Amino acid sequence: MNVLYKSTRNAEKTVTASEAILKGLAEDGGLFVPTSIPKLDVTMAELAKMSYQETAYAVMKQFLTDFTEEELKHCINSAYDEKFDTEVIAPLVKVADTYHLELFHGATIAFKDMALSILPHLLTTAAKKNNVKNEIVILTATSGDTGKAALAGFADVPGTKIIVFYPKGGVSKVQQLQMVTQKGENTSVVAIHGNFDDAQTGVKKLFEDRELEGELAAAGYQFSSANSINIGRLVPQVVYYVYAYAKLLENEQIADGELINVTVPTGNFGNILAAYFAKQMGVPIGKLICASNENKVLFDFFQTGTYDRNREFVLTSSPSMDILISSNLERLIYMIAGADAQKNNQLMADLKSKGVYHITDDMKEKLAGFVGGYATEEETKEMIRDTYRETGYIMDTHTAVAAYVNRKVKAESKDTAKTLVASTASPYKFARSVMTSIDEKYDELEEFPLIDELEKLSGVAIPNAIKEIRDAEVLHTTECDVDAMKATVKEILKVEV
Ligand SMILES: *Cc1c(COP(=O)(O)O)cnc(C)c1O
Repeated sequence: MNVLYKSTRNAEKTVTASEAILKGLAEDGGLFVPTSIPKLDVTMAELAKMSYQETAYAVMKQFLTDFTEEELKHCINSAYDEKFDTEVIAPLVKVADTYHLELFHGATIAFKDMALSILPHLLTTAAKKNNVKNEIVILTATSGDTGKAALAGFADVPGTKIIVFYPKGGVSKVQQLQMVTQKGENTSVVAIHGNFDDAQTGVKKLFEDRELEGELAAAGYQFSSANSINIGRLVPQVVYYVYAYAKLLENEQIADGELINVTVPTGNFGNILAAYFAKQMGVPIGKLICASNENKVLFDFFQTGTYDRNREFVLTSSPSMDILISSNLERLIYMIAGADAQKNNQLMADLKSKGVYHITDDMKEKLAGFVGGYATEEETKEMIRDTYRETGYIMDTHTAVAAYVNRKVKAESKDTAKTLVASTASPYKFARSVMTSIDEKYDELEEFPLIDELEKLSGVAIPNAIKEIRDAEVLHTTECDVDAMKATVKEILKVEV
């Protein structure tokens, strides 16, 4: 079956998977969605015997139908290799009565690696398929995690260059070190004199600058985005939910067909949407539990059917979930509206103009499979501390939000289904918040001594991603003012200034 893609804001036009990946965002500002969600064409019993890479092929070929077998397998094998510190890529760990799906074994020890390690290969393959001759230049503004994962993914990938802008002084010590020590001839990292919003606005302006587009084209370049709304990031995320279910079956933790619940720590709604896609493909998933931190826009939405971003933005210890506009939610809205682009358009216009929209009762009914929950800062700490004391397992703050919500929903609903928690970051990435949750005394330690203590407590070896930055050479020192971003890009690409 040939799967095509449509914008959530336009009912007419369809594009192929490779075109959707190349474009990232549709011209009308909408997100690409498959015209129908394909079913798995292999049984769970067959999947149970497959490696991560084989599972990835079985899932992704159903979505990316204009990629050949050879192309797709090449992308998969180039992505899920020794960059991951375990052959199984996404291990399942039983913690008390819950299964943690650890998605942080890639190059930057956060779940963004699951998609950003394959996106560069999907993108360069898509460029070839569509006869794009230009070199692809990825421009990204980052508040920390995405920038490093994108750098690691695109480093030394032929036919690409990547330029990352981060706010000077606006990212954590570990995050900054991770970026400025990035190797790879094609990578550039620039600290801007401004905040994250300035960086993001600046990058958007560059994308919309038609004059710059012309100058770049003349020099053999074109811009692209590694943003989380690219369908090339969503599809690879469906894989690990299929894989997790198949492994639970293989390990005789569940019976074939047994429903499991899945809890996901949510920010931009990409990870949990992938779980929803897996469910639509045929994976026996009961509840999809959407866990938020104190920025609980999504919890309120699932309670009331009203999405309201007009509220105070809270800085929490799970910063990758500090989001008031979950951009991937638009895909779900479009689907529960019955693939109605006009209806979706109207709601997104309300969001833009008033910061709020209300869905209809019909649409709300279709959300029955979703449950919202949230954890406060105190509850998140408590979950890390309690789990460590009871089991010895140490989890990161984002995962703890999900684990707390998972436990709460289970207790309140008396649901006995087995549960899977998406574990999205290594505790080493958020060592200070994690260690002070266990004991306030750790706050006195400097960054690296703190990390050594975490190793002692957890018994899990310090990952390479952390070891590397300890004494790595700083390779990127460029800084610029916000209004000099365009000139900086031209300088990096050696386009006439
Ligand atoms: C990005 C991120 C999330 C949120 O994922 P979404 O797909 O944006 O919902 C959660 N945890 C960590 C560690 C992340 O980096």
